[in-house]
Amino acid sequence: AMMVGRRARRWRGWSRVVRVLEEFEESCATPVGRLRQVVDAMVVEMHAGLASEGGSKLKMLLTYVDTLPTGNEEGIYYALDLGGTNFRVLRVKLGGQPSAVIGCEIDEQPIPEQLMTSTSEELFDYIAATLKDFVDRENETSEPSRGGGRELGFTFSFPVKQTSLSSGTLIRWTKRFSIEDMVGRDVSQSLQQEMSLKGLNMRVSALINDTVGTLALGRYHDEDTVAAVIIGTGTNACYLERADAIIKCQGLFSNSGGMVVNMEWGNFWSSHLPRTKFDVDLDADSQNPNDQGFEKMISGMYLGDIVRRVMLQMSQESDVFGPASSKLHEPFILRTPLMAAMHEDDSPDLREVARILRDILEIPDVPLNVRKLVVKVCDVVTCRAARLVAAGIVGILKKIGRDGSGGITSAKMKPLRQDRIKRTVVAIEGGLYTNYTMFREYLNEAMEQILGEDITPHVIIKITEDGSGIGAALLAASRASSSAVGAL
Ligand code: BGC
Ligand code: MG
Repeated sequence: AMMVGRRARRWRGWSRVVRVLEEFEESCATPVGRLRQVVDAMVVEMHAGLASEGGSKLKMLLTYVDTLPTGNEEGIYYALDLGGTNFRVLRVKLGGQPSAVIGCEIDEQPIPEQLMTSTSEELFDYIAATLKDFVDRENETSEPSRGGGRELGFTFSFPVKQTSLSSGTLIRWTKRFSIEDMVGRDVSQSLQQEMSLKGLNMRVSALINDTVGTLALGRYHDEDTVAAVIIGTGTNACYLERADAIIKCQGLFSNSGGMVVNMEWGNFWSSHLPRTKFDVDLDADSQNPNDQGFEKMISGMYLGDIVRRVMLQMSQESDVFGPASSKLHEPFILRTPLMAAMHEDDSPDLREVARILRDILEIPDVPLNVRKLVVKVCDVVTCRAARLVAAGIVGILKKIGRDGSGGITSAKMKPLRQDRIKRTVVAIEGGLYTNYTMFREYLNEAMEQILGEDITPHVIIKITEDGSGIGAALLAASRASSSAVGAL
């Protein structure tokens, strides 16, 4: 009798839960027509952000990177990578032959949580101390880097208003970071100060965004690379823009053909984005309400939490998860790698889903149909995210005339001939694309749907791992030996 009563209750709850799912799925829908609207909105915002400072939520930041690695870079360079889950120090030996990274030592550690919200002094003290340890551990016989001193590339993956290739001020924090006294301050100077306090003879010769490092590494290996995308804890993209298209700083460039622009697309917004009440709540509860709207639908920091919020609503409207688990109320408890593991659980009884529900969310004994429901929620969230990234990428391609439309789609013109379409490479880094197969497949599928079968084969999305580390070393080296980006 108990069993029957329990099952009956489940069934009543079940229909409400199915309705929650259906409504959620509907409001997350991204048919290709809608993606095209996002593509066009992205292009419009890119133009606006390039036209004037503050012209768009898309900041379209100047990077002062007007030369990219050629493959001939040579010597030993250091790099710091701050902004993702881990903090890394690298020592990179570049071979000088075309594109040879001869050696690379990496020290990697999770950044202590409390440092993300402490003071700038504490943060940079920690960074400089870690760097000093790394340098001190170096083998006495290691070759000294170029010129005796040490050149450092610093990847700082937040919106920065660059004042030169090697300096810039923090505009605001994103992701988990929030250190108020740092906003508006010069990032390189803050590091340089702590380094000299520790007697470290190093110079920040490039201050870059992680997307820019990824573009540099992509270009180092493949000269058709024109853009880079990160989909990790946060999300962002950069690309090569023609100097004359960067209206807001006409006259700033002297002899260069173009510059890398850091879009900060995490802050992109458009009414065409499929936004749900869960996104609205997530934003309101976040450290940075009204900022990073695109990022909050896409990146690793948030996807798991969207799933958690949907599950919480389901548990409030029914008893499908049994007596409501208090864990479902805990923000960010369902991290995205766990979500991916549930989504990609291919065991027939969804054992991994059951394990995560039990061990992480403290929801035991979930029947199979409810496990399937959870997988479906993960699927909806990831599918939307991946397809929005695809739209963003096509937006960039369209802006630079690599999406196959380029004014040639007019009915009067002959169709574009295959051999006239340029090979176009987009470097991509970040756990969502590299470690999450479903995400990757949804992204690739949407690219194809938007671009069509003629253009798709010419656009290559290339995993470029470690761009935010090695790329910084390459750009530090680029300063010494490089050639111009050239005609773009
Ligand atoms: C930051 C970007 C960064 C991206 C990926 C975003 O939150 O604003 O500067 O490139 O995360 O790390
Ligand atoms: Mg990174």
